[in-house]
Amino acid sequence: MNLPSLKRTLSRMPFKWMLTLWSAFLIFVLFVAYNTVQYVYVEKWMMAQEKKQARQNMNEVLNGLLEREAGFAEDELLRNRSYLDKKNQSDQMIRIIDQHGDKVIAVSDGIPEEWIAPEVKSETEIVVTDHAGHSLLVIRSPITIHSFHGTVEIVRNIDQFQRLTEAILRVFLFSGLGAVVLSGLGGGLLARQLLKPLQLMAQTMRDVERKGVQERIAVPDKEDEMTALMKIFNEMMDQVERSFSQQSQFVEDASHELRTPIAIMDGHLSLLLSWGKHDPETLEESLNISYHELTRIKALVQDLLTLTRTEKDGLAADEVTVRADRTILNIVGQWEQLHPQYTFETKLTGFADREVVVAERHLEQMMTILLDNAVKYSEVGSPVRVTGSVRDETAVFEIADNGVGIPEKDLPFVTDRFYRVDKARSRKQGGTGLGLAIAKRLVERYNGHMTIRSQEFEGTTVTVSFACRAYEDSSGGEIE
Ligand code: ADP
Repeated sequence: MNLPSLKRTLSRMPFKWMLTLWSAFLIFVLFVAYNTVQYVYVEKWMMAQEKKQARQNMNEVLNGLLEREAGFAEDELLRNRSYLDKKNQSDQMIRIIDQHGDKVIAVSDGIPEEWIAPEVKSETEIVVTDHAGHSLLVIRSPITIHSFHGTVEIVRNIDQFQRLTEAILRVFLFSGLGAVVLSGLGGGLLARQLLKPLQLMAQTMRDVERKGVQERIAVPDKEDEMTALMKIFNEMMDQVERSFSQQSQFVEDASHELRTPIAIMDGHLSLLLSWGKHDPETLEESLNISYHELTRIKALVQDLLTLTRTEKDGLAADEVTVRADRTILNIVGQWEQLHPQYTFETKLTGFADREVVVAERHLEQMMTILLDNAVKYSEVGSPVRVTGSVRDETAVFEIADNGVGIPEKDLPFVTDRFYRVDKARSRKQGGTGLGLAIAKRLVERYNGHMTIRSQEFEGTTVTVSFACRAYEDSSGGEIE
């Protein structure tokens, strides 16, 4: 298999096997490298010890011979032989040769003389050689006593040493093989351990697919990268579940809201189809009611669209600004014309050199909703006050009425979609229960705030705030 195809095979391999193989391979390589270094070091150290021992032996023999001023004439040979015999060890041979390489004397224990040919040396030399399957360590040193010039040779059988190093090598090899098996098992175990959380997550995702978004991963009680990932996954699923349920709640609410006007229209149109069209009074009444309900459906659909648009609209919230005083005066002016029976008071201060961070159409939309509520839920003729001021970098607007007010228990919910305090009254007024929900979302899109204060039967004040900043062309004055 060539390198590219090996790479392809590896990349196609399941993650678990890849992890197992790589970790096993790494552990094995590390182990082999460590053992090799250890073996080489031990072998070298042991050989150095052997050589040191051989040198020591040689020195002792040389010193002994020099001290004794040994002569190598025929009559002295016996004495020297017995001395060398005493000095010799098992599996060792000591041989003295003259300057021509002829043997003068030799003592041996277990090493035949012919295994090593005599060699004259002018300086000490150590070699390792072998003969007939035996490892031999040979040390040769020159010796000069009086007129005798020769070489002392000590030959040691180091089979024992070789056997020991071979045994160590075998141990290392076997433990290397063991390491392959163990590292394979360990790698597999490691991969299993590492992949367990991922498999758990995959299983949960499959469960989500089959059983629904309420499934979660059981996060183990510890803090690591995997549990962090699991927690993120669970949080994400919480969000998905929340938005799923919001979505279905929204559809449920919307269809519920549409059901009533549709049912009313259905009843009246059926009536007209069967006999009502022949009775001018019924015809007139049914057509009027159907038209009224259709208007409600139109308003509801419009509000629903506005609500979804406010959530999706892609305007960069901090880039659009408006001369809020002008816009608000325009809107209030239109409402004065539409509802001449109400009194509108407007007081805007501090906007001459300020522009407010909100798109004009969104400010208009919001003001329309709040003014509409103020009018809808007040007695005819009662005042509606619109005030605006600038505090630091914030523009604060208040729309206040002296209307029916909102009961305390309902106050936290009036910005929920389709929430209406008095359903019958709101319906009569053409309300959809979406106005404040839209207004709140519009304000929050610009990181603004909306708060509602209300006292039942006394009135309601809605406060909204937006960021504002200096307006370069400050031609306008204060407006009241
Ligand atoms: P609606 O279309 O019914 O007006 P909103 O979301 O605008 O829906 O308001 C929700 C509910 O809050 C209304 O049904 C009404 O009961 C109450 N509400 C809102 N504004 C006022 C107000 N200015 N005075 C009294 N009640 C109000």
